[in-house]
Amino acid sequence: MVAGARALSAQGLNRGSSGNIGVRLATSFLVTPSGVPAEELVANAMVEMDFSGSVLGAGRPSSEWRFHRDILQARPEIGAVVHTHSRYASALACLQRDIPAFHYMIAVAGGDTIRCAPYALFGTQELSDLALHALHQRKACLLGNHGLIALGSDLGAALALAIEVEELCAQYWSALQIGEPTILNGGQMREVLEKFKGYGRNARLDPEDKA
Ligand code: 13P
Ligand code: ZN
Repeated sequence: MVAGARALSAQGLNRGSSGNIGVRLATSFLVTPSGVPAEELVANAMVEMDFSGSVLGAGRPSSEWRFHRDILQARPEIGAVVHTHSRYASALACLQRDIPAFHYMIAVAGGDTIRCAPYALFGTQELSDLALHALHQRKACLLGNHGLIALGSDLGAALALAIEVEELCAQYWSALQIGEPTILNGGQMREVLEKFKGYGRNARLDPEDKA
């Protein structure tokens, strides 16, 4: 988790103490501490919580512990949750619009759109509820006027997806500068989603998808 948080910072996906990471344990989960920049994070600062929302041991958990808890509880196939305030995802999230299938790689998030949840105050149950809804049958979503959430079967997969979605947002933003992108239709995206099931790159993003 320390290496993951530092990688997000090094790649420019998070700055300062923005963003956070949650990882499933056997009957509990770990979340990054609140307000600590990646560069100052140490392994034993991670906060362990149970699914009722109690801290096990010490530490002040990320203000977003509710969405980490709720996603891990609702999605048994998910082992890690990554949240960023990366530039292009956040810029598009400020428009509160779903990202359409402007590029076939949008399918890495599990469908033919990446939804944007409506705005809610950070750290609230309302934000968690809206995020969970936007993540229905998806492994990534935007949070209105805020940032992005990416999920994976493990932390490596969730980090890779966060990086991929941020790049897709940069591509969509770029395309919008020069015109109106042509959106792939439902049939074209179903074909992509089918082909992705056996594709190596997608398997790297999330081994669960090979099944
Ligand atoms: P924390 O430092 O409490 O994790 O908050 C950062 C953040 O991104 C809130 O949405
Ligand atoms: Zn945030």
